[in-house]
Amino acid sequence: MKNDIVWFDKKFMSINKATVPITTHAIHYGTSAFEGIRAYWNGENLYIFRLDNHIKRFKETLRYYNLKTQYSEKILKDAIINLCKKNKIKHSCYIRPVCFVGNHGIQLHIRGAPTHVCIFTLTFDDIFNKNGINMGISQWRKFSNKSTPMQAKMGGNYLNSIIATNDARSKNFDEALLLDMKGNVSEAPGENIFILKNNNLITPKISSALDGITKKTVFEIAKKMKLNVKHDTIAKRQLFTADEIFITGTATEIVPIISIDKRKISHGRIGIMTRKIMSRYMDITSNRDKKYSKWLTKVY
Ligand code: PMP
Repeated sequence: MKNDIVWFDKKFMSINKATVPITTHAIHYGTSAFEGIRAYWNGENLYIFRLDNHIKRFKETLRYYNLKTQYSEKILKDAIINLCKKNKIKHSCYIRPVCFVGNHGIQLHIRGAPTHVCIFTLTFDDIFNKNGINMGISQWRKFSNKSTPMQAKMGGNYLNSIIATNDARSKNFDEALLLDMKGNVSEAPGENIFILKNNNLITPKISSALDGITKKTVFEIAKKMKLNVKHDTIAKRQLFTADEIFITGTATEIVPIISIDKRKISHGRIGIMTRKIMSRYMDITSNRDKKYSKWLTKVY
């Protein structure tokens, strides 16, 4: 499992050969669209989770910026499946497709600019402690949807996430929480956030957070658990009276929040409902819960 083969513009090659010129537009301006996808090994096969949804969002990101890739959804999906095979992946892994503007001078008008796509795989387990993490509210606010489209997973958008993460880590928090321009809860640098209060499971509206694919999965799980799930504005003060809080994302999966700004959430322990949702999520991703097999793409 070396992940040393990548897919670059329709060719499989060694990662050392997949290089770009220094004039590449994306290096200068963050003109890259990317996705984060996960595949799960359940001891028998490797399953890519919600591949269709990720590829659709990848294509949508490009459309916000009048960018195009010559590769169809089918080509990209096959590339991902075959890349997992080439790298002989038999372990849960992360898959990163990125489409970026290549040589296009220094101009800012990018309609019709040349793009390239590369895909690589990474192997890692948990990126956060699944027993719960400490979050700090960032002094940096989530960028407004009026400044740049929030639903576009463009490289440039992530500078906001990076500065908030730097800030949180320098204060010894595990993860940052960004408020939106109005001071309401937005999301974490790379995750959606949920609060549970009584039987209500709430996450911020998509006008102030990415419409996450893990979030949508959690909606399905929580509905089956008879929780009332909804998108709503979450005021900062609601965080401190919530019964449980957790974050969701493809790489992160579901991680309980046990404190925010050093104030304990659910007595500093993983909440009962959070634990149930985490366990059902794992059942789905590893194909133990066959009702959701439709979300899994078999690799081998
Ligand atoms: N918000 C942001 C800013 C993210 O980068 C991500 C990760 N893609 C998420 C939320 C979670 O989205 P998903 O569940 O689709 O990975």
